[in-house]
Amino acid sequence: MEKVIIIRYSEIYLKGKNRGFFERAFETNLRRAVKSFDCTLDKQSGRYFVRNFQEEETENVIEKLKKVFGAHTISIAYETATDMDSIFEAAKLLSRSTGTFKVESQRGDKKYPLTSIEISKELGGRLLAYFKTLKVDVHDPSFTVRVDIRENGVALVFADYIEGANGMPVGTAGKGLLLLSGGIDSPVAGHMMAKRGMNVDCLHFHSYPYTNMQAKEKVVELATILSEYTCGTNLYTVKVTHIQEAIHEKCKPQYMITLLRRFMYRIAERHALNIGAQCLITGESLGQVASQTIEGMTSSNSVVETLPVLRPLVGFDKNEIIERSVKMGAYETSILPFEDCCTVFLPDFPAIRPQTKDILREESKLDVEALIEEAFTSIEKIKI
Ligand code: ATP
Ligand code: MG
Repeated sequence: MEKVIIIRYSEIYLKGKNRGFFERAFETNLRRAVKSFDCTLDKQSGRYFVRNFQEEETENVIEKLKKVFGAHTISIAYETATDMDSIFEAAKLLSRSTGTFKVESQRGDKKYPLTSIEISKELGGRLLAYFKTLKVDVHDPSFTVRVDIRENGVALVFADYIEGANGMPVGTAGKGLLLLSGGIDSPVAGHMMAKRGMNVDCLHFHSYPYTNMQAKEKVVELATILSEYTCGTNLYTVKVTHIQEAIHEKCKPQYMITLLRRFMYRIAERHALNIGAQCLITGESLGQVASQTIEGMTSSNSVVETLPVLRPLVGFDKNEIIERSVKMGAYETSILPFEDCCTVFLPDFPAIRPQTKDILREESKLDVEALIEEAFTSIEKIKI
């Protein structure tokens, strides 16, 4: 009898001819997730098995696997021979000695001498005889023992289905460049695109020396948390201090945010094209703050020439975003009080519905191209 971890995949099974492509990406990502553990991974009839791990590492391995997109459910199971004695030995280890239970059985191997119902009856009977205070409750049991008789002469005996990350394997849906601030929203936006299989690199704008090293460390930490789901990421940082100073000096203060946003989007698109990313991703949500009105989005969007700008949070309420942030493990870091660049030079009254002609008039006071070129001289890459 061997203890194994079973991983079952989600939407991949819907794929037809190119299923192999999705399966290979999924397997690569699973291997990556468990590579720091002493264990092996193999695939059998559409499921993946982690084996030969240290018993005391089980929870840690599960935590890693729960971050791999494409996994539907995960179970810790005993793999045994298919005779009832062996199955019963495994079931005993999974049973509680008291309370209510049921047995659920299925057969991949249709030649097995007992039907599913017979397996459940036989095993249930043995458990009842062994644990004298157990009772059967098929409707609302306090635990379930599950038996799966496979074609290759093994039985899998397990108790629970652990919810996987679902979605599609990262690496199957192109690459995006996430505009990563130090806030709550953008890490969640990156997480959501990774969930649909996208590779995500990150771009962060800072205003050093107005923003400090702690602000940078916070963003590195957020990218690190995100990278557990995105199977690694590259974090690029670009300094925009000189741009904020130029806007501050030459333009009306209420356009600071709008104008800065347009610079960010221009720089982001150019950088995305440089690194082969196929879209920009932001954490914007309609109406959340002054710059996220449809007019504000139109203004920043209009400087992006070829790439789509994906805003996976556009229809989400803040509390829905926070819920996801907590769930992905980013929230505690996101709420640390270090400023990213946007809070420096903040006007008292930002333009809420900026008009194109006003924006263009203000922007014409600046040497846009020179400012962008200067920004690119500060770019740094951190591999995470
Ligand atoms: P977040 O919680 O992601 O910071 P927010 O609610 O603070 O979002 P804004 O500050 O208006 O919203 O930013 C909107 C989006 O613009 C962010 O989600 C992010 O994608 C991008 N962005 C804002 N500031 C930066 C920055 N300093 N570097 C990179 N991207 C940024
Ligand atoms: Mg922010």
